[in-house]
Amino acid sequence: MGYEITHWIGGQEVATAGSTQPIMNPATGREVGTLHLGDEATVDQAVQVALESQKGWAKVSLAKRTQILYRMRQLMIEHTDEIAVVISREHGKTVGDAKGEIARGLETLEFATSITQDLKGGFSANVSTGVDAHTLRQPLGVVAGITPFNFPAMVPFWMHPIAIATGNAFILKPSERDPSASNIVARLYQEAGLPDGVFQVVHGGKTVVDALCTHDGIKGVSFVGSTPIAKHVHATASAAGKRVQALGGANNHAVVMPDANVEFAAAQVASGAFGSAGERCMAVPVAVTVGDIHDEFIAAIKAEAEKLVVGPGDDERTDMPPVITPDAKARVIRMTDEAEQAGATIVVDGRGLVVEGHENGNFVGPTIITDLAADHPTYTEEVFGPVLVVMHVNNFDEAIDLVNASPFGNGTAIFTDSGHYARRFGDEIQVGMIGINVPIPTPVGYYSFGGWNDSLFGEHHAHGPEGVSFYTRQKAVTTRWPSQNETVESSMSFPTH
Ligand code: NAD
Repeated sequence: MGYEITHWIGGQEVATAGSTQPIMNPATGREVGTLHLGDEATVDQAVQVALESQKGWAKVSLAKRTQILYRMRQLMIEHTDEIAVVISREHGKTVGDAKGEIARGLETLEFATSITQDLKGGFSANVSTGVDAHTLRQPLGVVAGITPFNFPAMVPFWMHPIAIATGNAFILKPSERDPSASNIVARLYQEAGLPDGVFQVVHGGKTVVDALCTHDGIKGVSFVGSTPIAKHVHATASAAGKRVQALGGANNHAVVMPDANVEFAAAQVASGAFGSAGERCMAVPVAVTVGDIHDEFIAAIKAEAEKLVVGPGDDERTDMPPVITPDAKARVIRMTDEAEQAGATIVVDGRGLVVEGHENGNFVGPTIITDLAADHPTYTEEVFGPVLVVMHVNNFDEAIDLVNASPFGNGTAIFTDSGHYARRFGDEIQVGMIGINVPIPTPVGYYSFGGWNDSLFGEHHAHGPEGVSFYTRQKAVTTRWPSQNETVESSMSFPTH
């Protein structure tokens, strides 16, 4: 029922005869479409097309590649409303939030339009007498991107504009929960003039992921998703000899110092904890109050949570949308139950919330938990829902120790008026992305995005300069042009300058 989403291979829709999966609307619990799931043969079909297309694409001038990216940017802007509605229907997030992720994704495309600058190599004349040296960066070939459900536009955009700008062919395997945005992007790339086969989409689950990680024709794999799958993709694709960047899960802490502006901190932490129902890798599921600010912060964050309107993403009044699946809702409720059974205080309780007219939607209200032990799974694990755990410590050093004890290291923030503590925080914290009075410190597209520890496996962060390094290999060329009558005695010694 509803619409059908097929693969996009060689510039056209390609259906598979095999299995399918329903696409659900999280706000209604109703099926809205059917997704074709690929297999090893589908991956191979896309790779063979990509191998052919990439040969030609790598020879296209940088100026022409850039012009296509500019056209793509314009088309994305013109189709933002259409794509945002599709994302909201399949993911659940508000239409405004979906427009925001498209705009943030376009930052990477905008960065990629200056690939003419980023692919400039180095040149040194006369490194030895009559000898020059230069470097150049060349594409890997065919590369794949495997992406999560929570940013169906932005996260793929962290990858494909740079991969394509640097001369690769890109195969996207989007999340099977909200796949439609990727097919719209594929159609727009075609309209922008990108040769068929340079950007393709293969839908599916584990079978397709594993085929992408092991196919000989693929030279690089970018992954974003949960930590267990990031580890699996990193291990599988690395063992198959590929370059891999695998970004994993998170459990980001916001430290609230005694000198913080408590209203400001509470409003910012609430947006980090409950925006997009907490389903952001840079969400703030943990606040750490330091010293005597705890009670004041609890009162302020409670007031923020109680203000929020929970509802469907296509209703303009909605602040907080449903979570992605009934299973995700059940996990939030179970982890809240377990915290309560362990003696925690449930300051705001989102369990049992019903949105009128959307009784079958995956709704759960904002939840705030405190007085929880530091080894309880509701604190240590990624809940990935609208749950804020407020931990309390006595001083700054204890806050640093608590944040650094988490196995994840994606993002973190400190709220303070003290430059001294802000600077120490940036220096001592073992986390990849840090906000000083900024709750969701997602780097802009021309910087690179990546966590530490269990939040990233592989050498390279995503997008920005590290994206260019990831999708290219460097060559160093040493050149001498002797005159035709120049003679040199042969020498068996290692050459020096
Ligand atoms: P997920 O790990 O379940 O899925 C990610 C991708 O892996 C999907 O394309 C999915 O089809 C595939 N996949 C799922 N199970 C698989 C398996 N057993 N074998 C092979 N492939 C498999 O993640 P999700 O639920 O879609 O997304 C939420 C997770 O992503 C959270 O943990 C969140 O923190 C993380 N995330 C991290 C970042 C980051 O930048 N570090 C960004 C966004 C999301």
